[in-house]
Amino acid sequence: MVKAEEDIGRVKIVNGRYKLSGKFHIPEANQPIFNEDTGKLAGITNPRDMTYVHSYGGEAIFFEGIATGKLWASRCDNEKCANPGTIYEPFRIYCPDCLRKATPIDITEKARKTARVHSYIITARSGAFNSLKLPIKFINVEFEGVATILMGYLSVGEPEMGMRVVPIFNTKKPTYTIVDISWVPEGTKESELPEGFTF
Ligand SMILES: [Zn+2]
Repeated sequence: MVKAEEDIGRVKIVNGRYKLSGKFHIPEANQPIFNEDTGKLAGITNPRDMTYVHSYGGEAIFFEGIATGKLWASRCDNEKCANPGTIYEPFRIYCPDCLRKATPIDITEKARKTARVHSYIITARSGAFNSLKLPIKFINVEFEGVATILMGYLSVGEPEMGMRVVPIFNTKKPTYTIVDISWVPEGTKESELPEGFTF
């Protein structure tokens, strides 16, 4: 259902409190399911049109970053940790080893210079609400000096193991979700990028 402008559910934070406007639950009549062979009732449909409020909390910096062309990672700076100095991407709020709050670090340049395809999978069929172009070329991206790999998708060309890739960001009309970061082979021209994306 396409909502009228004033019905779109919007949320802002004012004086530390969430303020909601618009409609977050839209009722729609259910429909019966009849068996056309027997004329008997078999069930009903249950329409559900709702807007979910998803708080990013300590991960907000990561999503604001990819919308503005920056890739944030986390580093454990606790000297008493079993593995101090370990860098994690995807971004995590807490160190998985010592459970102390990790330090956000900008690894955009590291990604530009060292990112490689660790592995990939091409998906021809997607689930509901998919917004990516099919087939989706999912890639696991590794970075020099980073302990973990980041799942992403390749927007230009075909993936190969070990291939050098560089990040691109949906900075022109960001969605503030994980699809705002994508990857292209090193050497891709700006004119080949998908609409809204920049290096
Ligand atoms: Zn730690």
